[in-house]
Amino acid sequence: MIFQDPRAHTNPVRRIGDFMTEALRTNLAVPAAQARAKAVDMLAQVGIEDGARRLRQYPHQLSGGMLQRVMIAAALLTGPRLMLADEPTTALDVTTQAEVMAILDDLRREFGLTMLFITHDLELAAAICDRTAVMYAGQIVEIRSSMLLHDDPLHPYTAALAGARPDIAQTARRLRAIPGRPLSAFEALPAECAFAPRCPHARDVCRAAVPGPLEIGGGMSRCARAHDLRGRLGAVADG
Ligand code: SF4
Repeated sequence: MIFQDPRAHTNPVRRIGDFMTEALRTNLAVPAAQARAKAVDMLAQVGIEDGARRLRQYPHQLSGGMLQRVMIAAALLTGPRLMLADEPTTALDVTTQAEVMAILDDLRREFGLTMLFITHDLELAAAICDRTAVMYAGQIVEIRSSMLLHDDPLHPYTAALAGARPDIAQTARRLRAIPGRPLSAFEALPAECAFAPRCPHARDVCRAAVPGPLEIGGGMSRCARAHDLRGRLGAVADG
């Protein structure tokens, strides 16, 4: 698991080496010296060369980007097959974000890992994920090949999200927003589409029942009007 803010998930009074080798020593009974050697090797794989010295340091002595690399290295040390990355670059500046994403992508391929990448950044999801699952009110409302998500969404919420992205070519235009506010899972009514109060395409059928998963276009949509709206959603939510 790689967390959003590495500083919040490392103990400030424990050394990097203790943090990195803990799982190896306690879960896999790897001897201390061997665990440290593995940690140094893994640090080198995420671009931290002086690993032996880094293991003796405390989190506050490392930059945010370096600490996130430590988190990635620690997550890979026990040989996982599935890596969960929860907004791993949100707390980093843009340049460091790009470096960390490149490392994650390289290591994912090298180790043959499956990665579940959680993000609010649709562009980033499209860039690194094969498939994207879009969630609303605690439920997956669309699963789609990332390549098709922007141009041919299957759910009005996905289209509205894509339409709300700032456009660098149109600096004078007002930013488009989705009306209303997002619902938490517990606020969604049990008998209608949770997105209905904000959806420009809502009709009576949307308020008759919670839409079930519908296979369409090689993906999945939880929209009662998915077939009617197919090809009309584009990247803009109105209409
Ligand atoms: S089911 Fe109806 S309200 Fe819900 S997203 Fe589809 S069109 Fe909109």
